[in-house]
Amino acid sequence: MQLITCPWCGPREENEFRYGGQAGLEYPADPAALDDEQWARFVFFRDNPEGAFAERWCHDAGCRRWLRAVRDTRTYVFAETRPYGSFPRRSARPERSA
Ligand SMILES: [Zn+2]
Repeated sequence: MQLITCPWCGPREENEFRYGGQAGLEYPADPAALDDEQWARFVFFRDNPEGAFAERWCHDAGCRRWLRAVRDTRTYVFAETRPYGSFPRRSARPERSA
């Protein structure tokens, strides 16, 4: 089993953690201005890169804190883990598709 390094607890077995999806998404600044398609895009659409991917993980069976990790989606190797909030945020880009 793979080890994930919790920033507070150190290396722990992967089964102590819960995946929390893509990291760095911002809630829409003006949610009332979004139409249904924009909401659907914000709620359901996520990046799916081949390679480095920023993710949220929770150390459920340990300190129960959220962390952000960069994991390679091709190899499943974690390049880094940091306390939640230490990576730059980016827009969820709720604009319409072409
Ligand atoms: Zn921990």
